[in-house]
Amino acid sequence: MFNTQSIRPRSEAEQPDDRVIREHIEALAEHGYVVGVRCRNCGAILTARRSVDLHVGPVCRGRVDTSA
Ligand SMILES: [Zn+2]
Repeated sequence: MFNTQSIRPRSEAEQPDDRVIREHIEALAEHGYVVGVRCRNCGAILTARRSVDLHVGPVCRGRVDTSA
């Protein structure tokens, strides 16, 4: 079984909660689940991975694709 007893340094650079959430989302996605979050601006339910990461939908981002 996965060892969860390892001591993790509380680094401000890392955001363990975000990482744990992302791992859960990916695990759920493997089983066909779609996880959504609410847009921080308008409250729309977002399911696209980038929108979920940002908690802001494409409309509220002004349709500006910030990815490289
Ligand atoms: Zn929105």
